[in-house]
Amino acid sequence: MDEISTAFESVKAGVSLLSESIGLIKKTKELLPDSREKEIIEKSLEEADKASKLAESQIALALGYEICQCTFPPQIMLSKGYKEQEYHHKEEFVCPKCQKSSILPRSKPINTMSDWPY
Ligand SMILES: [Zn+2]
Repeated sequence: MDEISTAFESVKAGVSLLSESIGLIKKTKELLPDSREKEIIEKSLEEADKASKLAESQIALALGYEICQCTFPPQIMLSKGYKEQEYHHKEEFVCPKCQKSSILPRSKPINTMSDWPY
């Protein structure tokens, strides 16, 4: 299991580097004069960006991370530590994009017996 995690970590590092490189190429591309080639580069960069983000979320899922579906490719939710609940502590995961928490906001208690419509 440890070997698998280590392997995943290296793949994740590789994917992060790839995303960074894509970002750098995107900036460099701005220096090019407008042309058909620039358009093609833009298009393939977009695809590469999407593919690397998808790969990243696949790895995150395999490592047991929670995923937020507010965007596609999905966002990887990050742990914000433990949150005190009514009867126990629960680990909270928050989406870096939309700030959605994995812990449902406290609402009025649901009484399934009396609220059940049948
Ligand atoms: Zn989100």
